[in-house]
Amino acid sequence: MSPKKPARDTPTARKASAPPRGDSPRVPASRPSGKAASPRAGTAAKAGAARATSGRAAPRRGGGPRRSGPSASDLLGLLILGVTGTLAACGWMKQQDAGPAGRPAPAPSGGTVTIRFLDVGQGDAVLIRSPEGKTALVDGGRSGERLSAQLKKYGVTRLDLMIATHADADHIAGLVPAAALKPRVFINNGLGGTTQTWERLVKALQNVEATFTKAGNQTVNLGSVKLRIVAAPPGMPDDQNLNSVGLALQFGAFRALMTGDSETQETEGWLAQERPDLRGPFQVYKSIHHGASNGDSAGWLANVRPENVVISVGQNSYGHPTAAALRLYRQTGARVYRTDRHGTVTFEGRADGTYSADTER
Ligand SMILES: [Zn+2]
Repeated sequence: MSPKKPARDTPTARKASAPPRGDSPRVPASRPSGKAASPRAGTAAKAGAARATSGRAAPRRGGGPRRSGPSASDLLGLLILGVTGTLAACGWMKQQDAGPAGRPAPAPSGGTVTIRFLDVGQGDAVLIRSPEGKTALVDGGRSGERLSAQLKKYGVTRLDLMIATHADADHIAGLVPAAALKPRVFINNGLGGTTQTWERLVKALQNVEATFTKAGNQTVNLGSVKLRIVAAPPGMPDDQNLNSVGLALQFGAFRALMTGDSETQETEGWLAQERPDLRGPFQVYKSIHHGASNGDSAGWLANVRPENVVISVGQNSYGHPTAAALRLYRQTGARVYRTDRHGTVTFEGRADGTYSADTER
C-alpha cells in the first residue's frame, strides 16, 4: 500500500470517547411483508448518533435452487422480510434494542473496520470488512470485470451483505457477478430498475437465495460494526438518484457516511428530518454522485462535517467531479481522495475514533 497522500495536509485522526452503550434505536422485532410502502420514519427520530467529542489529536498511522414465486419485477416493489427474523437466527446480524428491557449493543471489539473505495472506473463500489471478517459490498460500479478483479485482489470469497444504493448501471452492473459470493441479504431502495442489468442482478441474487430487503432506517450489525441503512426521506419523486439509499457506519467512535447519487432534494429532505445519525463529524465521507454539481451542497456538508472526502470516479463524459464540488470539499478543510487518481482508497478505523488512510497509487 502506498503511503502517498493527497497534497492537502490537515490534521485528521482524532481520538474520541466511545459512545455510551444502550442508546441504540429500537427496531421493530418484525416487519410487515408484502407492502410496497416503507416503514421508514419510525426509527429515525430515535437514531442514536455517535457521541463523538473532539479530543486530542492522535498521530496518523500510516447456488442453490432458483426460487419460484414473484417475478423479478414483482420483487422490486415488495418489502420482503426485514432482516430481523431470518438473520438474527443466523447469528451474525442482530437487531438493536433500546431502553431498559433492551439488550445492550455489543461493545466494539478490538481491531479495525476496513472501508475500501474500490477503483472500478466511473461508478461507486465500497467494500466494508468488520474486525470479525464479515463483509458488505455497497454498489459494484459499472464493470463486472473490474469489480471481480478488485474483490479477488482483496481476498473476498464471501459476502454477508450487499447493498445497491439505487439501480443505475454505474452502481449495479458489477454486483451481478458479485452475487456469486452469496450475500445473505440484499438491500435496495425498493424501486425496481428497468434495465436488463437489473433483471440479471435480481436473478443472480435469487439463485443464491439472498433475502431481499428494502431500506427502512434499520440498523444492521456487521459483526461489531453498526450499519444504519438510511432510507430516502418521505416525499421523494419516483427517481433513482433521489431515492438513493444511504449508509451511516459506526464502529465505536469511528464513523463513515455514503449516500449514493443523492441529489439536493434528497439531502434537504434528510436535513429537514434533523437526524442525529447523519450529523457529523464523520471521519470518512463519500462524495455524492461522483462530484456532480447536483450532489453535495454547502448546507449538507456543514451538517456532515467530513474529515476525508472520497470521490469514486473514473473516466466519464459528465464532467465529474465538477469544479464546484471540488471547491465545496476544499472549503470544508477535508482531505480529498479520488479513485481515478489514487486508485483504491482504504481506511482502517479503530473504535477509539482514530484511523489510517492508504491509497493504491
Ligand atoms: Zn452514479
